[in-house]
Amino acid sequence: MALKTEQNVAGTYDVIVIGAGPAGYVAAIRCAQLGLKTACIDNWINEKGKASPGGTCLNVGCIPSKALLQSSEMFEQASKKFKLHGIVLNSVELDLPAMMQRKNKIVSELTRGIASLLKANKVQSIAGTARLLADRHVEVTKDQAQTIYAAQNVIIASGSSSIEIPAAPLTDNIVVDSSGALAFDSVPQKVGVIGAGVIGLELGSVWRRLGSEVIVLEAQGAFLPMADEEISADAARAFKKQGLDIRLNARLLGTEIIAVAGSKKVQVTYQVGSQDCQETFDKLIVAVGRKPNSDHVFDEEVDLVLDERCFIHVNEKCETSQPAVYAIGDVVRGPMLAHKGSEEGVMVAELIAGQFAEINYDLIPSVIYTHPEIAWVGKTEQQLKAAGENYKSGKFPFAASGRAKAQGDTTGLVKILSHAETDRVLGVHISGPQASELIAQAVIAMQMQASAEDLALTVFAHPSLSEALHEAALAVDNRAIHLPPDK
Ligand code: FAD
Ligand code: NAD
Repeated sequence: MALKTEQNVAGTYDVIVIGAGPAGYVAAIRCAQLGLKTACIDNWINEKGKASPGGTCLNVGCIPSKALLQSSEMFEQASKKFKLHGIVLNSVELDLPAMMQRKNKIVSELTRGIASLLKANKVQSIAGTARLLADRHVEVTKDQAQTIYAAQNVIIASGSSSIEIPAAPLTDNIVVDSSGALAFDSVPQKVGVIGAGVIGLELGSVWRRLGSEVIVLEAQGAFLPMADEEISADAARAFKKQGLDIRLNARLLGTEIIAVAGSKKVQVTYQVGSQDCQETFDKLIVAVGRKPNSDHVFDEEVDLVLDERCFIHVNEKCETSQPAVYAIGDVVRGPMLAHKGSEEGVMVAELIAGQFAEINYDLIPSVIYTHPEIAWVGKTEQQLKAAGENYKSGKFPFAASGRAKAQGDTTGLVKILSHAETDRVLGVHISGPQASELIAQAVIAMQMQASAEDLALTVFAHPSLSEALHEAALAVDNRAIHLPPDK
């Protein structure tokens, strides 16, 4: 550890942010906008050995996965669905290197964009690995050399990493985590996925669309238990129809790398009930969740409290157990979502600047970018039932939407739950086309404390997918126009 004296402090700041993911870089930019002298320290190095701000989200998360989801969906459309529109292609070929190159280009343009934004806002970007010392001093290690900085306030935004499990150690570019699964250099014939969570479904979908046989092994008995049960069931049916083989109650016992006809494969042993099962895959993606990067980010002389799952303990203002030390994003409680971390970054910057700021944690939307897309905000029906809440429900299937029919994409539905007496919207759940965009209308309505009737009284353009939201709101009062009335 470098000696910490006032003489060897290389720079002092109003705010030092540790981590330049969507939580950290947004916090740093907002701090700078508010006139605070800010530094942002990040240790992400890309495959060219260059600093690459943007964290998991831009480098190996949200952005590259959505690039591949888009490309693979277009490939599937061209291969299987164009003919429904009367477009006949004699052959559709996959150029995987070009698809990967496109994804890499998007990542490099966006990460360079973040570096420029930080610079334009006069945030000092510092490359290296940071460690919080006492009295808000921060030690940065780069190329084995240490430098000390000091700040009035420190924001820890060190993010999260994939969980590794002993039964499936990452190995040989055959058993991989999500980052490995975003960079296969050929389409594997058979892909196994451990975990039917968000990553398992999104990356499983990418490789299935590109031609792999995909089997997803999920430990739990319920499919997507965090989503509304009706939406999960609807999505499960759609995935099954697509050929995504999701096996629930699958208890992973172990994996072994084996040679089959001169090539390496992975043999997976698992149990369903008392039955022993085995599958051999060309690639295995381990997607069993992520853990907070809280272990090396502060020195033991800093008495920072962690919770039982090693998240840095914070209150609703993201204040840690140490004065003027905040923590935001994946390294603290709450959903591991980029937009949640970014909003925490904005809130903390504004609190440091002495402004009032808060986040409505009840209204953070979730989206799974599969086909159909799945999106929700607020309470699920099972949560309302468990809480004994008195609620009403209105549903509208995309099969009855003119726009969805015109697009040739009629899977899924919109479901609105509202309070039985006040009619206030309590939850909106969507599976179907553009669910990731449609959910924003529900978030805005709920942020403004709208009732289902408010949505019903709003004029929606025709023909649009949004009309499904309108009709679901009308259905809460059993007056949807394009559905037969409930008996
Ligand atoms: P991170 O993005 O993890 O950034 C933390 C940064 O801090 C990293 O650059 C890290 O290198 C750096 N760091 C860590 N420790 C130190 C240290 N000691 N010193 C210096 N730097 C340090 N979320 C969504 O909302 N939508 C999506 O579509 C989505 N898709 C995803 C797809 C995949 C495959 C994955 C893996 C995740 C996805 N996520 C998505 C989750 C999202 O990426 C995270 O929630 C988000 O990146 C968290 O932001 P963060 O800033 O807290 O942490
Ligand atoms: P997850 O928590 O969504 O899903 C992990 C799944 O693995 C769970 O269903 C769990 O039951 C299962 N599992 C755990 N151990 C297992 C085992 N031994 N055998 C079989 N199944 C097992 O985690 P994830 O999919 O890895 O994603 C991590 C985080 O990244 C999530 O919190 C998510 O919010 C975020 N993310 C978000 C998006 C998005 O917003 N679209 C996309 C990707 C990732």
